Amino acid sequence: MIQIFQKSLPYADKTAIISEGQAYSFAKLHQASANFAQLLLDESADLAEGRVAFMVNPGFDYVRVQWGIWQAGGIVVPLCLSYPLPSLRYTIENSGASVIVVSPEFEGMLSDLANELNCRFIVLGKNETAKHSKKLPEVNDARGAMILYTSGTTNLPKGVVSTHANLNAQISSLIEAWKWTSNDATVCVLPLHHVHGVVNVVSCALWAGASCTFMPNFSEKEIFGLIENQKINVFMAVPTIYFKLITYWEGLAKDQQQELTNALAKLRLMISGSAALPVSVMERWKTISTHLLLERYGMTEIGMALSNPYDGPRVAGHVGYPLPGVSARLSEEGEIQIKGKTVFKEYWNKPESTAESFTEDGWFKTGDIAAIDEIGGYRILGRNSVDIIKSGGYKISALEIEEVLRQYPGIADCSVVGLPNDEWGELVAAAIVIKAEVDQKALNAWMREQMPAYKTPRKYTVLPELPRNAMGKVTKKDVVNLIQ
Ligand code: ATP
Ligand code: MG
Repeated sequence: MIQIFQKSLPYADKTAIISEGQAYSFAKLHQASANFAQLLLDESADLAEGRVAFMVNPGFDYVRVQWGIWQAGGIVVPLCLSYPLPSLRYTIENSGASVIVVSPEFEGMLSDLANELNCRFIVLGKNETAKHSKKLPEVNDARGAMILYTSGTTNLPKGVVSTHANLNAQISSLIEAWKWTSNDATVCVLPLHHVHGVVNVVSCALWAGASCTFMPNFSEKEIFGLIENQKINVFMAVPTIYFKLITYWEGLAKDQQQELTNALAKLRLMISGSAALPVSVMERWKTISTHLLLERYGMTEIGMALSNPYDGPRVAGHVGYPLPGVSARLSEEGEIQIKGKTVFKEYWNKPESTAESFTEDGWFKTGDIAAIDEIGGYRILGRNSVDIIKSGGYKISALEIEEVLRQYPGIADCSVVGLPNDEWGELVAAAIVIKAEVDQKALNAWMREQMPAYKTPRKYTVLPELPRNAMGKVTKKDVVNLIQ
């Protein structure tokens, strides 16, 4: 079974979780999760990989439910809190969950569905008394532990089954690479149905005996408050969050800015991932916080795979090197392929997709295209499906063009896509968010100085903001529709 219980055992009296202003010790968490396991085992001796879907607010409740499911031998299926009912139904039905657990505020939303699907329905704090006390089952490492659905950036989300062994490998690799210890304290501002929040932040912190504060509603002010009061020393987020923090900081008075800069400098580690970190954001954050953000690359199927070094140079636009226990290679077309104990078991109920996503010699095909640079690190060029634009026989990286466009004075943000075109195959086009009037002729002339003509966007559309999913990733299919 996942080693998080064992690893955190020596820290019984330490604070594990701070949620809604209340602190919970590791001892309390161990006790509460074992109790929850007992409740789940009311109707059987072992959940035996039965799926338990749960819609629970980030915080102590989320973790005790997650750990309880693991201890009862089940597979955790965390639900997205902001999904409308049809998407929740898709996830619950697709995963074949037999139990649904909810925070009281979601009872109304899911009770009918639970009834219709014949699921046991547990409302936290309401019907939580276990009938008897049973011996917890032995859970083999090869069993499924978690089904996370991919972000749905390119297609319908797929259920990714990770085993206990996969999670052990993913977490221990990050503990080693990023030097987590029980002296650390972090805050979770990310949703807990994706690997970034659930593995990198919460599971790593608790495995190491560190503490994790939960902030279900993102607030720049509260994050800076935690930093100023030295309540955290590790911070992880997606690029859009760093962008928001920069904008907020820039609106502060000079003396407040300076105080925050001094406080930020005391953090041990600041990490970015889940989408490409714009060089402009990395540079701006360096002047504000004195930190060179550590950028890493990963996905639901493999956990984290590549990371800039903890010690040693972190390079803008690069995602670094394979993490401990991870093997990486590039195919002839430049696709990143990954092997290691971290790699997931299968797509849930999709044997064909699973088979298609591995090479004959057992490497996972990420679908992301990269290049290896002069210092041997990886530079992501984008997703083969949407970021690599095939135009007039060229393969063009949308991410590279985006980096250039962001340097143009009037442009705040942008997304580059390929539009279907009879003559060229695809035509480079850009959606731009402007902060000042942009003259397209002048912009084009400037672009021509930066890159060859075939890479220069043929069409610009100004949008008030870019379409993004829950992880802050730009959904390029929507961009294409908005441009056309
Ligand atoms: P779906 O598979 O449903 O389309 P998704 O791929 O966005 O959604 P995730 O597994 O959450 O779902 O995200 C993994 C993807 O995020 C990677 O395949 C990669 O394209 C992108 N990504 C992650 N980290 C980085 C990074 N540092 N730079 C660029 N892209 C990144
Ligand atoms: Mg994906």
